[in-house]
Amino acid sequence: MTSIATLGSHCSLQVLKGAKDEGLKTILVCEKKREKLYKRFPFIDKMIIVDSFKEVLDQKCQSILEENNAVLIPHGTLVAQMSSEEIESIKTPVFGNKWILRWESDREMKEKLMREAKLPMPEPVTDPSQIEKLVIVKRQGAAGGKGYFMAANKEDYNAKRNQLISEGIISKDETLYIQEYAAGVLAYLTFFYSPLREELEFFGVDQRHESDIEGLGRIPAEQQMKSNKVPSFNVIGNSPLVLRESLLDEVYKMGENFVEAAKRVVAPGMNGPFCIEGVYDENAKFKSFEFSARIVAGSNIYMDGSPYYSLLFNETMSMGKRIAREIKAATESNQLDKITT
Ligand code: ATP
Repeated sequence: MTSIATLGSHCSLQVLKGAKDEGLKTILVCEKKREKLYKRFPFIDKMIIVDSFKEVLDQKCQSILEENNAVLIPHGTLVAQMSSEEIESIKTPVFGNKWILRWESDREMKEKLMREAKLPMPEPVTDPSQIEKLVIVKRQGAAGGKGYFMAANKEDYNAKRNQLISEGIISKDETLYIQEYAAGVLAYLTFFYSPLREELEFFGVDQRHESDIEGLGRIPAEQQMKSNKVPSFNVIGNSPLVLRESLLDEVYKMGENFVEAAKRVVAPGMNGPFCIEGVYDENAKFKSFEFSARIVAGSNIYMDGSPYYSLLFNETMSMGKRIAREIKAATESNQLDKITT
């Protein structure tokens, strides 16, 4: 029997609940400190207790996963806590495409893939001296928005960077990525591409709530001006969003372009869940600043199914369950190598 395994964080609960609902065995790689939390959930069949998630790379952990015919579901915590080399060295079959996760982590590769997919993007700024309008400054990898800041010009950039270095939030030798700030309504568009059915599904939209940039909006300008704190974009949670129906066609087009580009650029392509993240401006034009090439935590909102999936499936379908269903279908038709790397 196939097992579904994942790291105990991010979206592990819905991934394992979905797997259990599909009749698969569930395994959680769980840090000792979170054992008590995850023991509360009866759908977790087995826990591999570790001191650190990196132990998933060790022979011991890999053997347990192999004995259980496990497929590992990658999520944001895996991407945030392991290097691309480490992820690529995982011997357990990884759902989707583990090679594309490097393209998610490296800002230049990310930009290249997004250009290949013809996604409209805010312009990157190569040097602080070229900052002419409001920019956002980001760190490498899936930092979850922590330590990001906005700057209006070079002096502003230098002052904020120095402040964050002195506060120990970013390091002196860190290469920062500067991008034009796109104003509008945030929208994180989640899709699922099935290589078995060769079909793209649109799962849903969410918005992220980020601290303390959102908190700023609750403070009158007078107090804002007196504060010299650099606001961060640390993600705290997510909430649902539905789009004007007239925007859906463009959404599918973006998803399809992304799948097509990924197939060309990083074999075997963008299989499984992925997310295109950006902003709709005043003309309802989308600008994308980011993609995630795996399940995103925003899908946690729809553990009981999303509005768009209720149009495609006549049953409750979470992203965790959709993943499990794909794995089940691939196992039954002997095509597991088509959906894992
Ligand atoms: P993750 O990998 O966890 O998705 P990340 O660390 O790669 O996140 P981004 O998603 O690129 O970071 O950015 C974090 C947040 O910063 C976004 O959710 C958004 O609120 C804001 N942001 C990023 N880029 C832009 C932009 N160009 N214009 C406006 N806001 C932006």
